[in-house]
Amino acid sequence: MPLYDFACAECGTTFEKKISYQGSLNDVSCPQGHHAVRRVYRPPQVVFKGSGWYATDHRKPESASADR
Ligand SMILES: [Zn+2]
Repeated sequence: MPLYDFACAECGTTFEKKISYQGSLNDVSCPQGHHAVRRVYRPPQVVFKGSGWYATDHRKPESASADR
């Protein structure tokens, strides 16, 4: 069952709720009982791989012209 984020327009409360299907989104109310809630779309988690990123930026200074 997917977990959606909601934000209440009345009191500004953000909360999560598990919704079984799209049709029941209209039945969602905030923990304070307000019905003026809207879906909050949060972007997917971005994972930065620090070690792998810098491995590609490895430079060999003057390796081409140093030897003869
Ligand atoms: Zn509310």
